[in-house]
Parts: sequence; structure tokens; C-alpha cells
Amino acid sequence: MTDISRRSLVGLGLTLPLLSQLSWAGQTPPAATHGGPVQINFNESPWGPCPAARKAMQDGIAQSGRYPYKAQYRLIDLFAEQHGLQADQVQVFCGSKLALQHAVMAFTGPRSLVLAEPSYEAPSDAAQGRGTPVHAIALDAQHAHDVDAMLAADANPGLIYLCNPNNPTGTLTPRRDIERLLARKPAGSVVVVDEAYIHFSDAPSCVELVKEHPELLVLQTFSKLYGMAGARLGLAIGQAPLLQKLEVYDGDNVAPASTLLAGLASLQDPQVAPQRKRDNARLRDHTIAWLGERGWRCTASQANCFMIDLRGPAQPLVERLAQEQVLVGRVWPSWPNWMRVSVGDEADMRRFRAAFAKVTAG
Ligand code: PLP
Repeated sequence: MTDISRRSLVGLGLTLPLLSQLSWAGQTPPAATHGGPVQINFNESPWGPCPAARKAMQDGIAQSGRYPYKAQYRLIDLFAEQHGLQADQVQVFCGSKLALQHAVMAFTGPRSLVLAEPSYEAPSDAAQGRGTPVHAIALDAQHAHDVDAMLAADANPGLIYLCNPNNPTGTLTPRRDIERLLARKPAGSVVVVDEAYIHFSDAPSCVELVKEHPELLVLQTFSKLYGMAGARLGLAIGQAPLLQKLEVYDGDNVAPASTLLAGLASLQDPQVAPQRKRDNARLRDHTIAWLGERGWRCTASQANCFMIDLRGPAQPLVERLAQEQVLVGRVWPSWPNWMRVSVGDEADMRRFRAAFAKVTAG
């Protein structure tokens, strides 16, 4: 069933609270975890869903007896309106990883996948699982994507994946490089710009570029800044014919009611994104400065993770930190001396600093 026909069949019975008007919207909720190990190993949010999203999730329980297509369309419409897009240029997935895996299935096969190294592994894992050739191109000296080398890797790739800011380094690729990639890529090759961490950065999103680029797919997620990794909500943004190629795999699926209502509430809250961006940047930059004062070099992150150059094998240090109840990582095989650290809350980063000082002493 197409989006349009499904839309036309959806009833009008779902009520959505005006969450942006609630007095507690936008306040930073308490940390998601207390006690136990510090979990700064999966680039999750230490704050979890914002208060308005938590309230919306509870409302979603009562509505869970029905397929929540109307909530899905409300979310699509709101995102499209906020970004000056058409509703048919936005598609909902149960996590952006799923959209990424479907993009690999839709656009590669005999044709290759080109991506950076180190970068998020999900696309190469999906490609390798089906025998697709993968060209992994080293980041440049500034830890940006080396767009020219990526273009040179294959004259006719199926998919070129660019993660901005990049996971695991947190580093940005300049907008002019992304635009050059779009201008010079071969016709028929799809570019995926993964913006899972864009909300933490000062960089402009590429979302509006989809209007002029029919072979550009931009991915965003509610898992990171919006703290909804456990609720599973991601968006794919692209022109309708491109999105239809993904729909073959997703079959006009719908996300859970609570998840969709929480996503809506997050987008309606004008304070949550700037506040969390500020808090993350302060905690990240303070930790990186603390490490720098002690001689440890870090990547120039604009995300909620960064990497530390340990100048020797990183994996043993990951294990020693785990013994101190501080979970960090991962280590990428191509960068064996670097360790990724996610940004937690004040208490998490205090415990990280204490443990790091202890395991690197002497
Ligand atoms: N893209 C990148 C770059 C990520 O780092 C992650 C998760 O870590 C994802 C996508 C997956 O996000 P989601 O939780 O929306 O599936």
C-alpha cells in the first residue's frame, strides 16, 4: 500500500497534546542511569528522552491498540514543514540503521559501496553480508572524508556513504566537499549522508539539498541528541522516487505509537536541541581539554563522541577502564591506537577522568 493510499484511509481519532506549551517541556531530565558502570561506549544520550517525550510515550500506551499511521504522518508532516520539504520526501524507519541497511540492499550488489575508514560499520557489514565490493578510503589529515579519493575509488559505485559528523571520530567534512561529491559523482550512484550526530554540531544539515539532488539520501535519528535509542526512530530524507526504492524492503511499515508521539514531542520542544547541544559540547570540550593538558591528543569532535590517540594499542586500556567500571570503546582495527569515548553527563565524565588518570598513571 502506498503512502498516499494509506494516508487517505487513516481515521481522525488520534489526539496529540500540544507538548510545546507544557511548562515542563525542555527541562533537562535526570540522568538515565544511576549506579553501575559508566556507559560511555555506544554514543547514547545520558539524559534519555526529554520530559515532553516521556509524557508522550505514556500517552502512546493508550493508543497502542491501533496502527499509529496518523502519528507517523504527523511526524513526517512536522519534520517536512520544519525543513521546507514535501511530505513525500520524508520516510520513517525503526532506527536510521534500518534505512541505511535498506539503502545498501537497494543500491549496491554487483555495484560497490564506497565509504571512509574509520567510519560507522553498519553499511560495510550489510554490504559484506551479501558479497558487495567495499572500497574503504582513509580519512584525510583533518579526519574529514577524502572526497576526491572516494570518487577515484570506483568509476561507477552503487552507493557512496558519508557520515557527518563521522562516527567514531566526531569530525566534520566541509560542506564544500560534500557539494563537490554531489556534483562529481557518476550519474546513477546514490550518495547517503548520515547525519546521526548533526544536531550536536555547528555544521548545516544537508537535508535541504535533497530538493536539487535526486540521488541524495540524508539519514537522521532520534537516538542520539533526542535520547531515544531504545525507542527506535530514524528518518530517511530524499526525493520520492529514491525513497520508493527503500520501501520495497520496508513495505510501508509503521513505528510504535509511543515512539512516534515521543518523536513529535521532541521536535515540538524548542529548547531540547539547543540545550542538549550546549551541554554535550561543554562536557566534551572540557574532557578533551583535560586530556590535552595531560598530553593526550583527541580528534576535533563536533559530536557526542571523540577518539583519543593512546600512542600504543588501545584495546588493553579499554579493558582496564572496564575493570574500573568505565565502559568505553570501540577500537577500530584500522586505528588500533585510538579509543572512542562517548560523552556522558557530568558524573560520567568525572568518573571517566578519574579512571583514565588511574589506568594511565606511571
Ligand atoms: N548512523 C550512525 C553514524 C550511527 O553511529 C548510528 C548508531 O550508533 C546509527 C546510524 C544508528 O542509529 P539508529 O539508532 O537510529 O538506528
